[in-house]
Amino acid sequence: MKVITSIQEMQQYMKSLKLEGKTIGFVPTMGYLHEGHLTLINKARSENDVLAVSIFVNPLQFGPNEDFDSYPRDFESDRKLAENNGVDVLFHPSTEEMYPTKMSLTAVVHSRINVLCGRQRNGHFDGVATVLVKLFNIVQPDRAYFGLKDAQQVAVVDGLITDFNFPITLVPVAIVREEDGLAKSSRNVNLTPQERLESTKLYESLQMAKREIEKGQRNPKVIEELIKKHITGHTSGVIDYVEMYRYPELDELSELKGRIIIALAVKFTKARLIDNITFDV
Ligand code: AMP
Repeated sequence: MKVITSIQEMQQYMKSLKLEGKTIGFVPTMGYLHEGHLTLINKARSENDVLAVSIFVNPLQFGPNEDFDSYPRDFESDRKLAENNGVDVLFHPSTEEMYPTKMSLTAVVHSRINVLCGRQRNGHFDGVATVLVKLFNIVQPDRAYFGLKDAQQVAVVDGLITDFNFPITLVPVAIVREEDGLAKSSRNVNLTPQERLESTKLYESLQMAKREIEKGQRNPKVIEELIKKHITGHTSGVIDYVEMYRYPELDELSELKGRIIIALAVKFTKARLIDNITFDV
């Protein structure tokens, strides 16, 4: 496995692989790799000649009061996991390499952001889109793999690839969970032991909501209240949002029908957790 920290070296190396006719799969991450990431990595491995993974905690997508400094990092462990999972090229640039000067031009996302995390985290998706424009130009992948754990991110990346004409196929990958249902996340290590126990209630509440819909409940407000009650009743977390939309459009639900997403974000002491389910009604 090659580990590359220089943009110029990465761009040249990827270009040489493309000239050899190799297909390139790309998994962008912020590191602290877990089984969620590894599922994306294994899928990308099986579908492409070359597998590139990036590890970069992107400051642009963190708000001033968010967890950029406390975001977990362990490059040595990530390097081993990447190597053991068949990664060919690990791109690990420094912040200075990616942003040597203040950007004179950045991406601004207009659609699919006035809901869910986009509404709570002002400028977050602009930061995501900006770093992805850079990473896509550096890595030049044929396919890019993103987890549905960040379902709104998948919707935004879909718009980015279409609107900016990147010759890249977006491959969404299902959420990977712990045995007790908690969606795997690098941030889970920042939960206290008590919060970790409580955190199972997030997915539990989403499943309860789905069952209610299957039993015939069609009022989104009733469903949202049910979820909120379950979370506030069983956890110390503070709810950021519980919302339901059409997916992937993220439009309001005039009626509860078709493909929908139920998504939530809950703040614990040192970790803000997100989770969602998408299904057809
Ligand atoms: P991150 O390092 O958190 O930015 O995640 C990198 C990629 O892995 C994103 O596309 C995430 O959606 C995806 N990912 C993270 N956790 C999971 C999970 N539990 N299941 C599926 N995909 C995930």
